[in-house]
Amino acid sequence: MTLTENNVRVADEVLQRLQKFLNPDAEQIPLHAPLFAGNEWTYVKECIDTGWVSSIGKFVDQFEQMLCEFTGSRHCIATGNGTLALHAALLVGGVVRGDEVIVPDLTFAATANAVVHAGAQPVLCDVSSKTMGVDPHSLRNWLQENTERSSRGLINRTSGRRISALVVMHCFGHPADIDDLLAICEENQLQLIEDAAESIGSYYQGTHTGRFGRLGVLSFNGNKTITTGGGGAIITDDADLARYAKHLTTTAKIPHPYRFRHDQVGFNYRMPNINAALGCAQLESLPEYLDRKRQIANRYAVLFSDLPGVTFLTEPAGCKSNYWLNALVLDDDGGDLLQHLLEITNASKIQTRPTWDLMHTLPAFAEIQKAPTPVAERLAKTVLCIPSGPSLWSEQ
Ligand SMILES: *Cc1c(COP(=O)(O)O)cnc(C)c1O
Repeated sequence: MTLTENNVRVADEVLQRLQKFLNPDAEQIPLHAPLFAGNEWTYVKECIDTGWVSSIGKFVDQFEQMLCEFTGSRHCIATGNGTLALHAALLVGGVVRGDEVIVPDLTFAATANAVVHAGAQPVLCDVSSKTMGVDPHSLRNWLQENTERSSRGLINRTSGRRISALVVMHCFGHPADIDDLLAICEENQLQLIEDAAESIGSYYQGTHTGRFGRLGVLSFNGNKTITTGGGGAIITDDADLARYAKHLTTTAKIPHPYRFRHDQVGFNYRMPNINAALGCAQLESLPEYLDRKRQIANRYAVLFSDLPGVTFLTEPAGCKSNYWLNALVLDDDGGDLLQHLLEITNASKIQTRPTWDLMHTLPAFAEIQKAPTPVAERLAKTVLCIPSGPSLWSEQ
Protein backbone atom coordinates (compact mmCIF):
# COMPACT_ATOMS: atom_id res chain seq x y z
CA MET A 1 0.00 0.00 0.00
CA THR A 2 1.40 3.38 -0.97
CA LEU A 3 -0.20 6.50 0.42
CA THR A 4 0.25 9.93 -1.04
CA GLU A 5 1.42 12.62 1.33
CA ASN A 6 -1.97 14.22 1.05
CA ASN A 7 -3.73 11.00 2.03
CA VAL A 8 -1.50 10.60 5.08
CA ARG A 9 -2.48 14.14 6.07
CA VAL A 10 -6.21 13.49 5.52
CA ALA A 11 -6.06 10.27 7.56
CA ASP A 12 -4.26 11.96 10.46
CA GLU A 13 -6.80 14.76 10.47
CA VAL A 14 -9.74 12.32 10.49
CA LEU A 15 -8.23 10.37 13.38
CA GLN A 16 -7.43 13.51 15.37
CA ARG A 17 -10.89 14.95 14.90
CA LEU A 18 -12.53 11.68 15.92
CA GLN A 19 -10.31 11.48 19.00
CA LYS A 20 -11.15 15.04 19.94
CA PHE A 21 -14.88 14.44 19.64
CA LEU A 22 -15.11 10.98 21.17
CA ASN A 23 -14.29 10.28 24.81
CA PRO A 24 -10.47 10.08 24.84
CA ASP A 25 -10.44 8.12 28.12
CA ALA A 26 -12.67 5.32 26.89
CA GLU A 27 -11.11 1.89 26.63
CA GLN A 28 -12.80 1.28 23.28
CA ILE A 29 -15.34 3.31 21.28
CA PRO A 30 -17.72 0.80 19.73
CA LEU A 31 -19.42 1.42 16.39
CA HIS A 32 -22.90 1.10 17.88
CA ALA A 33 -23.35 -0.21 21.42
CA PRO A 34 -26.86 -0.79 22.77
CA LEU A 35 -28.11 1.49 25.56
CA PHE A 36 -30.36 0.19 28.34
CA ALA A 37 -31.39 3.16 30.43
CA GLY A 38 -35.11 2.64 30.98
CA ASN A 39 -37.51 -0.10 32.04
CA GLU A 40 -35.56 -3.02 30.53
CA TRP A 41 -34.86 -4.76 33.85
CA THR A 42 -38.40 -4.29 35.15
CA TYR A 43 -40.09 -5.76 32.07
CA VAL A 44 -37.65 -8.66 31.59
CA LYS A 45 -37.91 -9.48 35.30
CA GLU A 46 -41.68 -9.53 34.98
CA CYS A 47 -41.36 -12.20 32.25
CA ILE A 48 -39.18 -14.35 34.49
CA ASP A 49 -41.28 -13.79 37.61
CA THR A 50 -44.48 -14.75 35.80
CA GLY A 51 -42.99 -17.53 33.67
CA TRP A 52 -44.14 -15.89 30.41
CA VAL A 53 -40.78 -15.92 28.65
CA SER A 54 -41.55 -17.71 25.42
CA SER A 55 -43.86 -17.57 22.44
CA ILE A 56 -46.93 -16.29 24.26
CA GLY A 57 -47.23 -13.27 26.51
CA LYS A 58 -48.47 -9.73 26.77
CA PHE A 59 -45.22 -8.03 25.77
CA VAL A 60 -45.32 -9.39 22.21
CA ASP A 61 -48.76 -7.86 21.63
CA GLN A 62 -47.71 -4.68 23.39
CA PHE A 63 -44.51 -4.41 21.34
CA GLU A 64 -46.45 -4.85 18.10
CA GLN A 65 -48.98 -2.25 19.22
CA MET A 66 -46.24 0.22 20.14
CA LEU A 67 -44.51 -0.32 16.79
CA CYS A 68 -47.78 0.41 14.98
CA GLU A 69 -48.14 3.61 16.95
CA PHE A 70 -44.55 4.67 16.37
CA THR A 71 -44.43 3.94 12.64
CA GLY A 72 -48.04 4.73 11.84
CA SER A 73 -48.46 1.28 10.30
CA ARG A 74 -51.82 -0.47 10.72
CA HIS A 75 -50.40 -3.92 11.40
CA CYS A 76 -47.20 -5.37 12.83
CA ILE A 77 -45.91 -8.92 13.30
CA ALA A 78 -42.88 -9.34 15.57
CA THR A 79 -40.36 -12.03 14.55
CA GLY A 80 -37.22 -13.71 15.88
CA ASN A 81 -34.95 -11.49 13.81
CA GLY A 82 -34.93 -9.22 10.77
CA THR A 83 -33.78 -11.92 8.35
CA LEU A 84 -36.76 -14.11 9.25
CA ALA A 85 -39.04 -11.10 8.82
CA LEU A 86 -37.61 -10.55 5.33
CA HIS A 87 -38.09 -14.19 4.40
CA ALA A 88 -41.70 -14.16 5.56
CA ALA A 89 -42.38 -10.78 3.93
CA LEU A 90 -41.16 -12.08 0.57
CA LEU A 91 -43.37 -15.17 0.79
CA VAL A 92 -46.40 -13.19 1.93
CA GLY A 93 -45.65 -10.47 -0.63
CA GLY A 94 -46.07 -12.92 -3.51
CA VAL A 95 -42.56 -14.15 -4.31
CA VAL A 96 -42.73 -17.80 -5.38
CA ARG A 97 -40.12 -20.46 -6.08
CA GLY A 98 -38.32 -19.82 -9.34
CA ASP A 99 -38.97 -16.05 -9.36
CA GLU A 100 -36.30 -13.42 -9.43
CA VAL A 101 -36.11 -10.49 -7.02
CA ILE A 102 -34.09 -7.31 -7.54
CA VAL A 103 -31.89 -6.33 -4.60
CA PRO A 104 -29.11 -3.75 -4.26
CA ASP A 105 -25.51 -4.88 -4.68
CA LEU A 106 -24.71 -2.72 -1.64
CA THR A 107 -26.56 -4.29 1.29
CA PHE A 108 -26.14 -6.65 4.22
CA ALA A 109 -26.14 -10.28 3.02
CA ALA A 110 -29.48 -10.95 4.75
CA THR A 111 -31.32 -9.02 2.03
CA ALA A 112 -30.08 -11.34 -0.70
CA ASN A 113 -30.06 -14.45 1.51
CA ALA A 114 -33.76 -14.05 2.28
CA VAL A 115 -34.52 -14.07 -1.45
CA VAL A 116 -32.72 -17.40 -1.77
CA HIS A 117 -34.52 -18.74 1.32
CA ALA A 118 -37.77 -17.91 -0.47
CA GLY A 119 -36.67 -20.10 -3.39
CA ALA A 120 -36.02 -17.14 -5.66
CA GLN A 121 -32.90 -15.75 -7.28
CA PRO A 122 -31.54 -12.27 -6.54
CA VAL A 123 -30.68 -9.90 -9.41
CA LEU A 124 -28.34 -7.13 -8.32
CA CYS A 125 -28.78 -3.44 -9.07
CA ASP A 126 -26.83 -0.26 -8.40
CA VAL A 127 -27.38 2.37 -5.72
CA SER A 128 -27.41 6.15 -5.69
CA SER A 129 -24.53 8.13 -4.20
CA LYS A 130 -27.03 10.52 -2.60
CA THR A 131 -29.06 7.93 -0.67
CA MET A 132 -26.88 4.79 -0.91
CA GLY A 133 -30.18 3.02 -1.64
CA VAL A 134 -31.42 1.58 -4.97
CA ASP A 135 -30.87 4.11 -7.76
CA PRO A 136 -34.12 4.61 -9.71
CA HIS A 137 -32.42 5.95 -12.82
CA SER A 138 -30.06 3.04 -13.42
CA LEU A 139 -32.75 0.54 -12.39
CA ARG A 140 -35.15 1.94 -15.00
CA ASN A 141 -32.45 1.70 -17.67
CA TRP A 142 -31.63 -1.87 -16.76
CA LEU A 143 -35.30 -2.89 -16.77
CA GLN A 144 -35.82 -1.30 -20.18
CA GLU A 145 -32.92 -3.18 -21.70
CA ASN A 146 -33.35 -6.51 -19.97
CA THR A 147 -37.01 -7.21 -19.38
CA GLU A 148 -40.36 -7.42 -21.09
CA ARG A 149 -43.89 -7.34 -19.77
CA SER A 150 -46.11 -10.36 -20.29
CA SER A 151 -49.30 -11.91 -18.93
CA ARG A 152 -47.12 -13.68 -16.33
CA GLY A 153 -45.67 -10.35 -15.17
CA LEU A 154 -42.25 -8.88 -15.81
CA ILE A 155 -39.96 -11.33 -17.59
CA ASN A 156 -36.17 -11.26 -17.51
CA ARG A 157 -35.13 -11.75 -21.17
CA THR A 158 -31.84 -13.40 -20.23
CA SER A 159 -33.20 -16.05 -17.87
CA GLY A 160 -36.82 -16.24 -19.00
CA ARG A 161 -37.88 -16.07 -15.37
CA ARG A 162 -40.42 -13.77 -13.78
CA ILE A 163 -39.10 -10.86 -11.74
CA SER A 164 -41.72 -10.47 -9.03
CA ALA A 165 -40.35 -7.96 -6.55
CA LEU A 166 -37.89 -5.21 -5.73
CA VAL A 167 -36.35 -5.06 -2.27
CA VAL A 168 -35.30 -1.56 -1.35
CA MET A 169 -32.91 -1.08 1.58
CA HIS A 170 -32.64 2.19 3.50
CA CYS A 171 -28.88 2.21 3.92
CA PHE A 172 -27.44 3.29 7.27
CA GLY A 173 -30.89 4.75 8.00
CA HIS A 174 -31.03 7.12 5.01
CA PRO A 175 -34.31 6.73 3.11
CA ALA A 176 -34.06 5.58 -0.52
CA ASP A 177 -35.77 7.44 -3.42
CA ILE A 178 -39.13 5.94 -2.61
CA ASP A 179 -41.41 7.93 -4.96
CA ASP A 180 -39.42 7.06 -8.07
CA LEU A 181 -38.96 3.46 -6.99
CA LEU A 182 -42.68 3.07 -6.30
CA ALA A 183 -43.42 4.42 -9.79
CA ILE A 184 -41.01 1.90 -11.33
CA CYS A 185 -42.68 -0.91 -9.39
CA GLU A 186 -46.11 0.15 -10.59
CA GLU A 187 -45.01 0.45 -14.22
CA ASN A 188 -43.39 -2.98 -14.12
CA GLN A 189 -45.79 -5.01 -11.97
CA LEU A 190 -43.18 -5.43 -9.25
CA GLN A 191 -44.02 -5.79 -5.58
CA LEU A 192 -42.09 -3.37 -3.41
CA ILE A 193 -40.70 -4.85 -0.19
CA GLU A 194 -38.75 -2.51 2.08
CA ASP A 195 -35.77 -3.70 4.05
CA ALA A 196 -36.09 -1.03 6.72
CA ALA A 197 -33.91 -3.04 9.11
CA GLU A 198 -31.65 -0.03 9.68
CA SER A 199 -34.19 2.76 9.48
CA ILE A 200 -36.53 2.76 12.47
CA GLY A 201 -37.19 6.45 13.09
CA SER A 202 -36.36 7.45 9.49
CA TYR A 203 -38.96 9.24 7.41
CA TYR A 204 -39.46 9.88 3.72
CA GLN A 205 -41.50 13.05 3.24
CA GLY A 206 -42.98 12.64 6.69
CA THR A 207 -43.94 8.96 6.40
CA HIS A 208 -42.02 6.29 8.26
CA THR A 209 -39.79 4.07 6.14
CA GLY A 210 -41.18 0.56 5.67
CA ARG A 211 -44.69 1.91 5.06
CA PHE A 212 -44.39 2.43 1.30
CA GLY A 213 -43.96 -1.15 0.16
CA ARG A 214 -46.51 -3.94 0.37
CA LEU A 215 -44.60 -4.95 3.46
CA GLY A 216 -41.69 -3.44 5.36
CA VAL A 217 -39.19 -5.17 7.60
CA LEU A 218 -37.47 -3.91 10.77
CA SER A 219 -34.58 -5.38 12.76
CA PHE A 220 -33.82 -5.21 16.47
CA ASN A 221 -30.43 -6.87 16.42
CA GLY A 222 -27.95 -5.74 19.08
CA ASN A 223 -26.20 -3.25 16.80
CA LYS A 224 -29.36 -1.51 15.57
CA THR A 225 -30.83 1.75 16.92
CA ILE A 226 -32.89 -0.19 19.47
CA THR A 227 -32.57 -3.87 20.28
CA THR A 228 -34.52 -6.85 21.58
CA GLY A 229 -31.36 -8.97 21.73
CA GLY A 230 -32.39 -10.59 18.48
CA GLY A 231 -35.60 -9.56 16.83
CA GLY A 232 -37.42 -8.21 13.84
CA ALA A 233 -40.85 -7.17 12.64
CA ILE A 234 -42.99 -6.95 9.56
CA ILE A 235 -45.16 -3.87 9.12
CA THR A 236 -47.99 -3.49 6.61
CA ASP A 237 -51.25 -1.59 6.15
CA ASP A 238 -52.87 -4.57 4.43
CA ALA A 239 -55.03 -6.59 6.85
CA ASP A 240 -55.00 -9.76 4.70
CA LEU A 241 -51.24 -9.74 4.31
CA ALA A 242 -50.84 -9.10 8.04
CA ARG A 243 -53.12 -12.01 8.91
CA TYR A 244 -51.23 -14.31 6.56
CA ALA A 245 -47.85 -13.12 7.86
CA LYS A 246 -48.91 -13.80 11.44
CA HIS A 247 -50.26 -17.23 10.48
CA LEU A 248 -47.18 -18.24 8.50
CA THR A 249 -44.76 -17.08 11.21
CA THR A 250 -46.65 -18.93 13.97
CA THR A 251 -46.35 -22.44 12.45
CA ALA A 252 -49.58 -21.97 10.44
CA LYS A 253 -51.49 -23.16 13.48
CA ILE A 254 -55.24 -22.78 13.42
CA PRO A 255 -56.09 -20.88 16.61
CA HIS A 256 -57.75 -23.25 19.08
CA PRO A 257 -57.65 -23.58 22.90
CA TYR A 258 -56.17 -27.10 22.91
CA ARG A 259 -55.92 -28.61 19.44
CA PHE A 260 -52.76 -28.44 17.37
CA ARG A 261 -53.75 -28.33 13.75
CA HIS A 262 -51.70 -26.61 11.06
CA ASP A 263 -53.12 -25.87 7.63
CA GLN A 264 -49.79 -25.61 5.77
CA VAL A 265 -46.04 -25.87 6.33
CA GLY A 266 -45.46 -22.85 8.53
CA PHE A 267 -42.48 -21.29 10.24
CA ASN A 268 -41.66 -20.80 13.89
CA TYR A 269 -40.54 -17.20 13.43
CA ARG A 270 -42.35 -15.61 16.37
CA MET A 271 -40.54 -13.22 18.68
CA PRO A 272 -40.35 -14.60 22.25
CA ASN A 273 -42.03 -12.58 25.01
CA ILE A 274 -38.77 -11.96 26.89
CA ASN A 275 -37.30 -10.27 23.83
CA ALA A 276 -40.46 -8.24 23.30
CA ALA A 277 -40.25 -7.09 26.94
CA LEU A 278 -36.82 -5.67 26.21
CA GLY A 279 -38.26 -4.13 23.04
CA CYS A 280 -41.10 -2.35 24.86
CA ALA A 281 -38.60 -0.66 27.16
CA GLN A 282 -36.36 0.24 24.23
CA LEU A 283 -39.27 1.72 22.29
CA GLU A 284 -40.07 3.96 25.25
CA SER A 285 -36.52 5.34 24.95
CA LEU A 286 -36.45 5.50 21.15
CA PRO A 287 -37.41 9.19 20.77
CA GLU A 288 -34.60 10.15 23.12
CA TYR A 289 -32.11 7.88 21.34
CA LEU A 290 -33.08 9.36 17.97
CA ASP A 291 -32.58 12.80 19.38
CA ARG A 292 -29.13 11.90 20.69
CA LYS A 293 -28.16 10.29 17.39
CA ARG A 294 -29.21 13.41 15.51
CA GLN A 295 -27.09 15.53 17.85
CA ILE A 296 -24.12 13.25 17.20
CA ALA A 297 -24.66 13.49 13.43
CA ASN A 298 -24.89 17.29 13.64
CA ARG A 299 -21.64 17.39 15.56
CA TYR A 300 -19.91 15.15 13.03
CA ALA A 301 -21.21 17.34 10.19
CA VAL A 302 -19.55 20.38 11.77
CA LEU A 303 -16.43 18.44 12.74
CA PHE A 304 -15.75 17.40 9.14
CA SER A 305 -17.27 20.36 7.29
CA ASP A 306 -13.92 22.02 6.50
CA LEU A 307 -11.79 18.97 5.81
CA PRO A 308 -10.94 18.68 2.11
CA GLY A 309 -11.20 15.15 0.72
CA VAL A 310 -13.84 14.02 3.21
CA THR A 311 -17.62 14.46 3.12
CA PHE A 312 -19.94 13.62 5.98
CA LEU A 313 -22.98 11.82 4.59
CA THR A 314 -26.19 13.71 5.42
CA GLU A 315 -29.84 12.78 5.04
CA PRO A 316 -31.30 13.07 1.50
CA ALA A 317 -33.51 16.10 0.71
CA GLY A 318 -37.08 15.72 1.96
CA CYS A 319 -36.06 12.95 4.35
CA LYS A 320 -35.37 12.57 8.02
CA SER A 321 -32.74 9.95 8.75
CA ASN A 322 -32.19 8.16 12.05
CA TYR A 323 -28.42 8.31 11.30
CA TRP A 324 -28.11 4.69 12.34
CA LEU A 325 -24.50 4.60 11.16
CA ASN A 326 -22.72 7.86 10.49
CA ALA A 327 -20.50 7.70 7.44
CA LEU A 328 -17.66 9.65 5.89
CA VAL A 329 -17.22 9.48 2.12
CA LEU A 330 -13.66 9.91 0.88
CA ASP A 331 -12.79 11.67 -2.38
CA ASP A 332 -9.91 9.25 -2.89
CA ASP A 333 -11.48 6.15 -4.46
CA GLY A 334 -8.36 4.05 -4.82
CA GLY A 335 -9.15 2.14 -1.64
CA ASP A 336 -5.76 2.71 0.02
CA LEU A 337 -6.86 5.70 2.08
CA LEU A 338 -9.92 3.81 3.30
CA GLN A 339 -7.79 0.81 4.25
CA HIS A 340 -5.32 3.04 6.08
CA LEU A 341 -8.12 4.80 7.97
CA LEU A 342 -9.67 1.49 8.99
CA GLU A 343 -6.31 0.39 10.35
CA ILE A 344 -5.36 3.50 12.29
CA THR A 345 -8.81 4.14 13.80
CA ASN A 346 -9.30 0.56 14.94
CA ALA A 347 -5.72 0.48 16.27
CA SER A 348 -6.64 3.59 18.28
CA LYS A 349 -9.64 1.72 19.74
CA ILE A 350 -12.14 3.68 17.68
CA GLN A 351 -14.26 1.09 15.95
CA THR A 352 -14.90 1.88 12.29
CA ARG A 353 -15.93 -0.23 9.30
CA PRO A 354 -16.34 -0.07 5.55
CA THR A 355 -19.63 -0.90 3.81
CA TRP A 356 -20.40 -4.60 3.45
CA ASP A 357 -18.47 -6.42 0.77
CA LEU A 358 -20.73 -6.07 -2.26
CA MET A 359 -23.10 -8.99 -2.88
CA HIS A 360 -21.57 -9.84 -6.27
CA THR A 361 -18.18 -10.42 -4.61
CA LEU A 362 -19.57 -13.09 -2.25
CA PRO A 363 -19.12 -16.74 -3.30
CA ALA A 364 -22.87 -17.41 -2.98
CA PHE A 365 -23.75 -14.64 -5.44
CA ALA A 366 -20.73 -14.57 -7.73
CA GLU A 367 -22.64 -16.16 -10.62
CA ILE A 368 -25.93 -14.30 -10.42
CA GLN A 369 -27.07 -11.68 -12.89
CA LYS A 370 -26.32 -8.07 -12.13
CA ALA A 371 -26.68 -4.64 -13.61
CA PRO A 372 -23.52 -2.56 -13.81
CA THR A 373 -22.92 -1.22 -10.27
CA PRO A 374 -20.25 1.50 -10.54
CA VAL A 375 -21.67 3.60 -7.69
CA ALA A 376 -21.81 0.66 -5.27
CA GLU A 377 -18.21 -0.20 -6.23
CA ARG A 378 -17.08 3.33 -5.58
CA LEU A 379 -18.87 3.49 -2.21
CA ALA A 380 -17.27 0.20 -1.16
CA LYS A 381 -13.88 1.91 -1.60
CA THR A 382 -14.74 5.29 -0.11
CA VAL A 383 -17.19 4.86 2.80
CA LEU A 384 -15.99 4.78 6.38
CA CYS A 385 -18.63 4.21 9.07
CA ILE A 386 -17.76 5.89 12.35
CA PRO A 387 -19.05 5.43 15.93
CA SER A 388 -22.77 6.22 16.12
CA GLY A 389 -24.38 4.68 19.23
CA PRO A 390 -26.82 6.74 21.33
CA SER A 391 -24.56 6.50 24.39
CA LEU A 392 -21.63 8.22 22.65
CA TRP A 393 -22.53 11.76 23.40
CA SER A 394 -25.43 13.89 24.46
CA GLU A 395 -25.90 17.59 24.90
CA GLN A 396 -26.14 18.20 28.63
C1 LIG B 1 -29.66 -5.91 10.31
C2 LIG B 1 -30.14 -6.07 8.93
C3 LIG B 1 -31.04 -7.07 8.55
C4 LIG B 1 -31.63 -8.09 9.48
O1 LIG B 1 -30.75 -8.53 10.39
P1 LIG B 1 -31.07 -9.50 11.61
O2 LIG B 1 -29.72 -9.53 12.25
O3 LIG B 1 -31.50 -10.80 11.04
O4 LIG B 1 -32.11 -8.90 12.50
C5 LIG B 1 -31.45 -7.12 7.24
N1 LIG B 1 -31.03 -6.22 6.35
C6 LIG B 1 -30.19 -5.23 6.67
C7 LIG B 1 -29.80 -4.25 5.63
C8 LIG B 1 -29.69 -5.12 7.96
O5 LIG B 1 -28.84 -4.14 8.26
